[in-house]
Amino acid sequence: MTAIRKVGVIGAGQMGNGIAHVCAASGIDAVMLDVKPDALVRAMATIGKNMDRQVTKGTLSAEAKTAALARITTSSDYASLHDCDLVIEAATEKEELKRSIFKALVPHLAPHAMVASNTSSISITRLAAVTDRPERFIGMHFMNPVPVMKLVEIIRGIATDDATFNAVMELAAKLGKTTAVAEDFPGFIVNRILVPMINEAVYAVYEGVGTIASIDCGLRLGANHPMGPLELADFIGLDTCLSIMQVLHDGLSDSKYRPCPLLVKYVEAGWYGRKTNRGFYDYTVTPPRPTR
Ligand code: NAD
Repeated sequence: MTAIRKVGVIGAGQMGNGIAHVCAASGIDAVMLDVKPDALVRAMATIGKNMDRQVTKGTLSAEAKTAALARITTSSDYASLHDCDLVIEAATEKEELKRSIFKALVPHLAPHAMVASNTSSISITRLAAVTDRPERFIGMHFMNPVPVMKLVEIIRGIATDDATFNAVMELAAKLGKTTAVAEDFPGFIVNRILVPMINEAVYAVYEGVGTIASIDCGLRLGANHPMGPLELADFIGLDTCLSIMQVLHDGLSDSKYRPCPLLVKYVEAGWYGRKTNRGFYDYTVTPPRPTR
């Protein structure tokens, strides 16, 4: 089985920086690649801040933090991924964009290299078919925030071979994660169940069933969820939530997955949640204020 010593991460947003963080903290070299140079600068700052938090909590030593940060490099050139054993794509949740990334990536890969996508919902089989190595392509769906959340969903495409499956299962264990294996259907397990609940919460706002505050309070205290569904939507990113609903709607052809028009409107306005400082809550004030 291929031992994974160096990982490439494409997309240095909230997921990509978390994936590079946990790899580096587990002794694996990581190269982060993004189209936006400022995203790479922000990602390194976020990783440093999150590792500082772990040092304060005593879950990471100061020496281990220094060593981990030294294992991370950044790049905007696919050629820098030539010696990676695995490249994990964690760019924006748009199928066309991911396809163009895989097409640009494969000429630079070592022959043995495996490719994973952190997609929340897009078919692994379809993404694998764009590459020259569908047998070494797999879904590795980390949860947000990656350093904190224990789960990685593993999704085999129709062509994924056992060596690739075993290698990423071993990697997930090395990163201290627990795996849940899902079949390659839209949304896999977690988002097939979670995101329609979030979409239903947006319908509840849209239809005036309750305010944002009362819906979130209802699910936090009434269903014992650590976050209300609208807070969680802002945390995930409303653009990502909408993309997942569109994938469920298109892929399962069932009207019960239609995205709520209010979710569409927020995304059209550029109100993506925490990452743009405004979504169902306004994050420019403390505590965040509901926007409706
Ligand atoms: P994000 O918006 O925080 O980051 C996406 C990054 O991709 C940005 O830095 C952007 O500049 C970069 N990017 C865009 N086009 C690119 C290209 N052509 N090449 C390289 N980089 C490019 O998004 P995110 O929340 O980190 O989500 C990334 C992926 O992870 C998506 O597929 C999403 O569905 C998945 N995911 C998200 C969550 C979540 O809770 N947010 C959880 C699990 C999985």
